[in-house]
Amino acid sequence: MSVDKAFREMVRNEIEAQLKPLRDLVSRLEAGTADLDRLRTVAEQLAPLAGAVGPLFGVSGGSRGGGAAPARRGPGRPARAAPAPVAASGGKKRGRKPSSEGGARECAIKGCGKPSRTKGYCAAHYQKLRMLEKTNRRPNNWVDYAEPNSVEDIKLPRGRAAAKALAEAKNAG
Ligand SMILES: [Zn+2]
Repeated sequence: MSVDKAFREMVRNEIEAQLKPLRDLVSRLEAGTADLDRLRTVAEQLAPLAGAVGPLFGVSGGSRGGGAAPARRGPGRPARAAPAPVAASGGKKRGRKPSSEGGARECAIKGCGKPSRTKGYCAAHYQKLRMLEKTNRRPNNWVDYAEPNSVEDIKLPRGRAAAKALAEAKNAG
Protein backbone atom coordinates (compact mmCIF):
# COMPACT_ATOMS: atom_id res chain seq x y z
CA MET A 1 0.00 0.00 0.00
CA SER A 2 2.67 2.48 1.06
CA VAL A 3 4.73 1.60 -1.98
CA ASP A 4 1.76 2.34 -4.14
CA LYS A 5 1.25 5.63 -2.39
CA ALA A 6 4.88 6.58 -2.78
CA PHE A 7 4.70 5.68 -6.41
CA ARG A 8 1.65 7.81 -6.88
CA GLU A 9 3.37 10.66 -5.13
CA MET A 10 6.30 10.34 -7.46
CA VAL A 11 4.11 10.13 -10.51
CA ARG A 12 2.18 13.13 -9.41
CA ASN A 13 5.30 15.19 -9.07
CA GLU A 14 6.33 13.96 -12.46
CA ILE A 15 2.99 14.92 -13.93
CA GLU A 16 3.13 18.34 -12.44
CA ALA A 17 6.55 18.83 -13.93
CA GLN A 18 5.25 17.65 -17.27
CA LEU A 19 2.13 19.69 -17.04
CA LYS A 20 3.82 23.04 -16.99
CA PRO A 21 5.15 22.93 -20.55
CA LEU A 22 1.89 21.35 -21.58
CA ARG A 23 -0.07 24.25 -20.16
CA ASP A 24 2.22 26.64 -21.90
CA LEU A 25 1.62 24.79 -25.11
CA VAL A 26 -2.10 24.83 -24.63
CA SER A 27 -2.13 28.53 -24.06
CA ARG A 28 -0.09 28.94 -27.19
CA LEU A 29 -2.52 26.67 -28.97
CA GLU A 30 -5.32 28.94 -27.94
CA ALA A 31 -3.31 31.89 -29.11
CA GLY A 32 -3.25 30.29 -32.52
CA THR A 33 0.45 29.41 -32.65
CA ALA A 34 0.23 25.69 -32.17
CA ASP A 35 3.32 23.64 -31.95
CA LEU A 36 1.57 20.37 -32.53
CA ASP A 37 4.62 18.18 -32.76
CA ARG A 38 5.92 19.25 -29.40
CA LEU A 39 2.49 18.95 -27.92
CA ARG A 40 2.18 15.43 -29.24
CA THR A 41 5.54 14.53 -27.75
CA VAL A 42 4.50 15.80 -24.36
CA ALA A 43 1.19 14.02 -24.61
CA GLU A 44 2.93 10.78 -25.44
CA GLN A 45 5.26 11.18 -22.50
CA LEU A 46 2.28 11.86 -20.36
CA ALA A 47 0.17 8.97 -21.56
CA PRO A 48 1.64 6.12 -19.46
CA LEU A 49 1.60 8.31 -16.40
CA ALA A 50 -1.96 9.34 -17.02
CA GLY A 51 -2.95 5.70 -16.85
CA ALA A 52 -1.43 5.41 -13.39
CA VAL A 53 -2.87 8.59 -12.04
CA GLY A 54 -6.04 8.56 -14.06
CA PRO A 55 -8.27 9.59 -11.15
CA LEU A 56 -6.29 12.79 -10.81
CA PHE A 57 -7.39 13.74 -14.27
CA GLY A 58 -10.82 12.30 -14.19
CA VAL A 59 -9.77 9.78 -16.79
CA SER A 60 -10.98 6.22 -16.37
CA GLY A 61 -7.74 4.44 -17.23
CA GLY A 62 -8.30 4.70 -20.95
CA SER A 63 -4.75 4.75 -22.18
CA ARG A 64 -2.61 1.97 -20.89
CA GLY A 65 0.67 0.75 -22.29
CA GLY A 66 1.41 4.18 -23.70
CA GLY A 67 2.71 4.45 -27.22
CA ALA A 68 -0.06 4.64 -29.77
CA ALA A 69 -2.91 5.49 -27.42
CA PRO A 70 -2.85 9.29 -27.34
CA ALA A 71 -3.53 9.61 -31.04
CA ARG A 72 -7.19 8.82 -30.54
CA ARG A 73 -8.09 11.88 -28.61
CA GLY A 74 -6.87 15.28 -29.57
CA PRO A 75 -3.40 15.93 -28.25
CA GLY A 76 -4.72 18.86 -26.33
CA ARG A 77 -7.09 16.78 -24.26
CA PRO A 78 -4.98 15.81 -21.24
CA ALA A 79 -4.38 19.41 -20.31
CA ARG A 80 -8.07 20.21 -20.50
CA ALA A 81 -8.97 17.54 -18.01
CA ALA A 82 -6.15 18.52 -15.71
CA PRO A 83 -6.97 20.81 -12.82
CA ALA A 84 -5.40 23.82 -14.41
CA PRO A 85 -5.17 26.78 -12.04
CA VAL A 86 -6.48 29.06 -14.76
CA ALA A 87 -9.75 27.22 -14.94
CA ALA A 88 -9.98 26.67 -11.21
CA SER A 89 -9.61 30.30 -10.25
CA GLY A 90 -11.78 31.57 -13.05
CA GLY A 91 -14.00 33.95 -11.16
CA LYS A 92 -16.35 34.49 -14.05
CA LYS A 93 -20.02 35.06 -13.56
CA ARG A 94 -21.90 31.99 -12.59
CA GLY A 95 -25.50 31.16 -12.86
CA ARG A 96 -27.85 32.05 -15.63
CA LYS A 97 -27.74 35.34 -17.32
CA PRO A 98 -30.95 37.20 -17.90
CA SER A 99 -32.15 35.99 -21.25
CA SER A 100 -34.67 38.71 -21.84
CA GLU A 101 -34.83 42.34 -20.94
CA GLY A 102 -38.50 42.32 -20.17
CA GLY A 103 -38.14 39.88 -17.34
CA ALA A 104 -41.01 37.47 -16.95
CA ARG A 105 -43.60 39.71 -18.54
CA GLU A 106 -45.88 38.16 -21.04
CA CYS A 107 -46.41 39.30 -24.58
CA ALA A 108 -48.75 42.25 -24.93
CA ILE A 109 -50.94 40.39 -27.37
CA LYS A 110 -54.00 38.77 -25.85
CA GLY A 111 -53.82 35.03 -25.56
CA CYS A 112 -50.24 34.81 -26.78
CA GLY A 113 -48.67 33.91 -23.45
CA LYS A 114 -45.10 33.93 -24.68
CA PRO A 115 -42.53 35.92 -22.75
CA SER A 116 -42.07 39.41 -24.07
CA ARG A 117 -38.79 40.18 -25.74
CA THR A 118 -38.95 43.64 -27.21
CA LYS A 119 -41.10 46.58 -26.19
CA GLY A 120 -43.51 44.28 -24.45
CA TYR A 121 -43.99 41.90 -27.36
CA CYS A 122 -42.75 38.39 -27.93
CA ALA A 123 -40.36 37.80 -30.81
CA ALA A 124 -43.09 36.83 -33.25
CA HIS A 125 -45.46 39.62 -32.37
CA TYR A 126 -42.73 42.20 -32.36
CA GLN A 127 -41.90 41.13 -35.88
CA LYS A 128 -45.53 41.46 -36.80
CA LEU A 129 -45.61 44.89 -35.24
CA ARG A 130 -42.56 45.95 -37.22
CA MET A 131 -44.09 44.65 -40.40
CA LEU A 132 -47.36 46.46 -39.74
CA GLU A 133 -45.46 49.61 -38.99
CA LYS A 134 -43.44 49.29 -42.15
CA THR A 135 -46.53 48.79 -44.23
CA ASN A 136 -48.29 51.64 -42.52
CA ARG A 137 -50.90 49.44 -40.89
CA ARG A 138 -49.91 49.52 -37.27
CA PRO A 139 -53.06 49.58 -35.13
CA ASN A 140 -53.31 52.37 -32.59
CA ASN A 141 -53.54 50.02 -29.67
CA TRP A 142 -50.34 48.19 -30.61
CA VAL A 143 -48.32 50.62 -28.56
CA ASP A 144 -44.82 50.10 -27.29
CA TYR A 145 -44.68 48.54 -23.83
CA ALA A 146 -48.37 47.80 -23.77
CA GLU A 147 -49.67 45.96 -20.73
CA PRO A 148 -49.18 42.19 -20.94
CA ASN A 149 -52.07 40.32 -22.47
CA SER A 150 -53.94 43.53 -23.25
CA VAL A 151 -53.68 44.11 -26.97
CA GLU A 152 -56.06 42.54 -29.44
CA ASP A 153 -54.27 40.61 -32.13
CA ILE A 154 -55.23 41.45 -35.68
CA LYS A 155 -55.81 39.01 -38.43
CA LEU A 156 -53.96 39.91 -41.54
CA PRO A 157 -55.67 39.52 -44.89
CA ARG A 158 -54.26 36.90 -47.19
CA GLY A 159 -53.90 36.50 -50.88
CA ARG A 160 -55.52 39.18 -53.04
CA ALA A 161 -57.05 40.86 -50.01
CA ALA A 162 -53.55 41.24 -48.60
CA ALA A 163 -52.30 42.91 -51.74
CA LYS A 164 -55.29 45.22 -51.73
CA ALA A 165 -54.82 46.13 -48.08
CA LEU A 166 -51.16 46.82 -48.69
CA ALA A 167 -51.94 49.05 -51.65
CA GLU A 168 -54.53 50.96 -49.66
CA ALA A 169 -52.14 51.43 -46.79
CA LYS A 170 -49.53 52.71 -49.18
CA ASN A 171 -51.89 55.24 -50.67
CA ALA A 172 -53.03 56.37 -47.27
CA GLY A 173 -49.48 56.99 -46.14
ZN1 LIG B 1 -46.83 37.25 -28.71
